[in-house]
Amino acid sequence: MKELAGISGSPGIAIGPTLTYSESHQYVPRYRIEDHSIDEELTRFHEAVKRAREEITSLQKQSRHEVGDLDTRFLDSHVLMLSDPDFTGRVEEAIRSQQYNVEWVLHTTTESVVAQLSGLEDAYLRERSVDIHDVGQRVLNHLLYRRRLSLSDLTDEVVLICHDLLPSDAIGMNKRKVRGIAMDAGGRTSHTAILARAFEIPAVLGLGTVVEQARTASEIIVDGNRGKVILDPDESTLSRYRDELSDYREREVRLMSLNDLPAETKDAKLIQLKANIEIPEEVEAIFAHGADGIGLFRSEFLFLHSGKWNTSRLPDEEDQFNAYRQVLESMNGKPVTIRTLDVGGDKVVPELSQYPEKNPLLGWRAIRFCLSRTEVFRTQLRALLRSSVYGNLRIMFPMISGVEELNRAFELLNEVREEMIASGEQFSENIPVGIMIEVPSAALTSDILARNCDFFSIGTNDLIQYTLAVDRGNERTAYLYEPFHPGMLRLLNTVLENGHRAGIPVGMCGEMAGDPMATMLLVGLGLDELSMSAAGIPEVKRIIRSLTMGEAEELFGTVMEMRSYKDIDRFIHTVMSERFELQVY
Ligand code: PEP
Ligand code: MG
Repeated sequence: MKELAGISGSPGIAIGPTLTYSESHQYVPRYRIEDHSIDEELTRFHEAVKRAREEITSLQKQSRHEVGDLDTRFLDSHVLMLSDPDFTGRVEEAIRSQQYNVEWVLHTTTESVVAQLSGLEDAYLRERSVDIHDVGQRVLNHLLYRRRLSLSDLTDEVVLICHDLLPSDAIGMNKRKVRGIAMDAGGRTSHTAILARAFEIPAVLGLGTVVEQARTASEIIVDGNRGKVILDPDESTLSRYRDELSDYREREVRLMSLNDLPAETKDAKLIQLKANIEIPEEVEAIFAHGADGIGLFRSEFLFLHSGKWNTSRLPDEEDQFNAYRQVLESMNGKPVTIRTLDVGGDKVVPELSQYPEKNPLLGWRAIRFCLSRTEVFRTQLRALLRSSVYGNLRIMFPMISGVEELNRAFELLNEVREEMIASGEQFSENIPVGIMIEVPSAALTSDILARNCDFFSIGTNDLIQYTLAVDRGNERTAYLYEPFHPGMLRLLNTVLENGHRAGIPVGMCGEMAGDPMATMLLVGLGLDELSMSAAGIPEVKRIIRSLTMGEAEELFGTVMEMRSYKDIDRFIHTVMSERFELQVY
């Protein structure tokens, strides 16, 4: 038995036989060619490229049918890459100049680009190296008449062990047969993590040596809750995890019975439970978990999926309109809050953020970016307004820090409205427009801001970061990232009081909203809406339905009297685990 620690990419537990999916040990032949064979090698290359293109086209058709348009965008980029003279020309030139066989030239050319990109600091470019490797490998397989082990053909249920699951494999895999994923590479924002969460497949990433260590292992436990895997578990570990898994499933089934019931307290205070999504395909999971709507659609993910090796261009008005319309229509009239572009900070879109910054998280991001790149913002606003007639749209501005920014954002929105009226384009009247409260100055001036917008949604991920001065992505200071800090609770209380005094609803869409430990406190605080990843909704609903407002307010009152976050943390954990039998990992 061997235990490896990694990063939790997608929650849940998977136990199953290992299937190592790796291409890294393939033998690539290498031999010199004569002058007269160069044309022959070029022809072999072009034919393999053609077959690879045909293969991707058929994969596109299959995945479009399964997961919708947007997730297949990187496949479009793979097709584009195969026609890109930058790529093909480089290989042709190397065949001529180096005079080695095409397999070797293709392998060394693509892998040297991959090595260059994967050594860069820029996370976006590092991720592009995956696409280049993917395409190179596909062409190489055709040259070697080698068929990739196709994950779409899986017939038995397995746990995938891989160095890095290529996006095209993740899209095409038979999701019903993949119980879990254990990967050497990858972080929380990698394509694979996003897709695993969207498909609700437990995944642990960033394991470093799992492919190597699992060579002789036949069985594995993927513990996506704690971010670890156990190779060849012994009987007692297995039986502990089997019990946990069956409890987990039983609990899921029991919780599903709440799907059609409202999230209301015993004394009938109704709280909207909504879902956060990054890609339109997550809508399916929303219905499976009984969400009241979408509380946060992080629209920047449409942009993060684009780029040179991906779609070769940023989504234009039409692309965005189609994505927003698809989501609005599939929600059948339930409210959908689409947040305008929150690029910058850690969400880098190279085409948009060309300037290096010393402090990107305090820099040119979100609404600041949109108010200076107004052509990008206007395009998004037009796409949003056009889509509004297809459902129940709410627009939300991120990172508002004061009333000037809010006024300017409204000015631009109104200008776009006027233009559309002049050109006779349709859009809904009275679309609610709200703001995220994620900058301390916004929380402190929420009395002023509340008079100028229709709703608040508190983004605790950033609000904690900026209030406590703790980088949300830095594991060394993670111990200071404390949602129950008295400073945070006071700030939250200010926002709630100011919002309600002005008569507007106040929601929360940061991770804190989906943490069952925090549910009673947040109800006591008076939040009207909690938005979280869809799978978290049933548990939060269970807690809400088994308490009264009086109890929740009392808990909040008690906690507000406490001085240290450690005391608050301990107190809340004790109350919640005893009262609601919450699991603490
Ligand atoms: C937040 O900051 O809490 C939030 C929901 O936005 P994001 O995580 O996308 O920054
Ligand atoms: Mg944020």
